[in-house]
Amino acid sequence: MAAPPPASLELRPLGGTGLKVSCVGFGASPLGRVFGPVSEDEAVASVREAFRLGINLFDTSPYYGGTLSEKMLGMALKASGVPRDQYIVSTKCGRYKEGFDFSAERVTRSIDESLERLQLDYVDILQCHDIEFGSLDQIVNETIPALLKLKETGKIRFIGITGLPLGIFTYVLDRVPPGSVDVVLSYCHFSINDNSLEDLLPYLKSKGVGIISASPLAMGLLTESGPPEWHPAPPELKSACQDAVAFCQKKGKNISKLAMQYSLTNKDISSVLVGMNCVKQVEENVAAATELASTGMDQETLAEVEAILKPVKNLTWPSGIQQS
Ligand code: NAD
Repeated sequence: MAAPPPASLELRPLGGTGLKVSCVGFGASPLGRVFGPVSEDEAVASVREAFRLGINLFDTSPYYGGTLSEKMLGMALKASGVPRDQYIVSTKCGRYKEGFDFSAERVTRSIDESLERLQLDYVDILQCHDIEFGSLDQIVNETIPALLKLKETGKIRFIGITGLPLGIFTYVLDRVPPGSVDVVLSYCHFSINDNSLEDLLPYLKSKGVGIISASPLAMGLLTESGPPEWHPAPPELKSACQDAVAFCQKKGKNISKLAMQYSLTNKDISSVLVGMNCVKQVEENVAAATELASTGMDQETLAEVEAILKPVKNLTWPSGIQQS
């Protein structure tokens, strides 16, 4: 008997871009082997499964795995044979293995390099990557204007900014001409342990930008295999998350499913970007979304996990250079 057709994954509008993105987005940093080994075959199979299950947003960066993520994603997208207008690719500029450079010259060169690695003619979204490590005034006065010129060439369709401290978004959006930044990508601020992005949502909506929230599993803290060695969280956050993972394991619950569902509940967030490196993870994360839509989430376990994480609620870590 043929497999039943998969339940459809919700599409949500991305701010004023006119794009409709799948509520679960494919974070491709694991394809750069930043969370452990991934074979080319596994990358191709994961992207193929993502398409089959309705994922249409793929996010990468030249920084992930020192350009490996872009190469692996490009190869897997090509192998999928899916027409280019059926999916949305976002990549980034300004952050590289060698360091940060948000100059107009570097980001203009960067897109050509990314397009070559991705084997694409254009990307849908080009984002300034982790802008708290640069001068925010340079982002406003030099980087965004350079990206606006790239828009005119057709190499990019929309412009975004990403980073950890939430204040960077208001700083930039208050200073750029309306409509010049289309998308913001925030990470590690809308998951069970930290939902501080929530307070900023009304402001971001008032600016008309599309909102992408990344790292629903807190970059591995809310997984049974735990965070990678480089994870920047302070010890008390790591330890509380370990307790939450152990609690769920004992109760026979999957903490990653709970965390995915938590992040998907706020519909002002257009897409939740989760890093995936195998078919099983793609299937589990999409199933978490379709199950949430049909039966809701396990409120009892959520309350129990929230109680365990309460002492570290919204605890984060320093990122970037101090802005004057
Ligand atoms: P994440 O919270 O999505 O966690 C990823 C980890 O969880 C990986 O080890 C992955 O293999 C594992 N995982 C995924 N699904 C799982 C499941 N069902 N069960 C158990 N483990 C599972 O963190 P992330 O990958 O850092 O974030 C997602 C994506 O968002 C990135 O790949 C990247 O594209 C983007 N991102 C961007 C920025 C930025 O622009 N500054 C920062 C962080 C993330």
